[in-house]
Amino acid sequence: MLMKQATQRYTALRRSIVEVMSKSSTPLTIGDLLRKLPKVPQSSLYRNLAVLEQAGVAVRVKTSGDTGRYELSERLAGHHHHLVCSRCGSMKDIVVPSSVEKRLDDSLHALAKSEGYVMQHHRLDVVGVCKKCR
Ligand SMILES: [Zn+2]
Ligand SMILES: [Zn+2]
Repeated sequence: MLMKQATQRYTALRRSIVEVMSKSSTPLTIGDLLRKLPKVPQSSLYRNLAVLEQAGVAVRVKTSGDTGRYELSERLAGHHHHLVCSRCGSMKDIVVPSSVEKRLDDSLHALAKSEGYVMQHHRLDVVGVCKKCR
């Protein structure tokens, strides 16, 4: 399994970061990670996240706010999208049914091609207002 391969090379701390991420259904902020790994100093968390990012294990999710969020790369977590709350900035992973993904991909491939691009993959956020903020 990819996850095993990717984590075997890492220290116990990196393994626990990966474990926390794999158990979460949302991309995590630094604050979330620190709460789940209370013994880890912030500087050490940043350093290890950078290593995991460089190794292609973790990715920084771009958000509209200033808080960066981290999650496992799609190579490990599988392809998915995010629901984003425009009020509080909360995020949730969503898996789109494969029939919808197929149609999305077909349309996006055609669109990219008409602009002279060879499409590699897509990223798509669904923005709205979450239950708590409604
Ligand atoms: Zn919200
Ligand atoms: Zn997709």
